[in-house]
Amino acid sequence: MSIKSKRISPFWYLKKKQTKHGLRSLAYKIGITTMGKGYVAIFSPKHPFRHKAGYVLEHRLVMEKYLGRYLTKKEVVHHINEIISDNRIENLMLFNSSKAHISYHKSLSKSGAPC
Ligand SMILES: [Zn+2]
Repeated sequence: MSIKSKRISPFWYLKKKQTKHGLRSLAYKIGITTMGKGYVAIFSPKHPFRHKAGYVLEHRLVMEKYLGRYLTKKEVVHHINEIISDNRIENLMLFNSSKAHISYHKSLSKSGAPC
């Protein structure tokens, strides 16, 4: 092992650690977190249907922006490709109740949980 690599390895270790921490604190600073199975949530302290810590699920915010109104508590937003972190409007589908959402999932004949 050369002197050079001895010097470099702890540097890379620290850099990796700092980057991880940096990304996490950056996400925190700009108000992004994850909830439940990995749903993305955005810090929205003034939203009428925010969760306790002031976060709102991003897929609901995207649908609300698209519709130009708040979603009711009964309405459910479905992820068409079943990727719960894919919150592009073209991947989202609105159901007027969780019952309708669940029966849609059953009609897909997939055993996966509602998304
Ligand atoms: Zn779904």
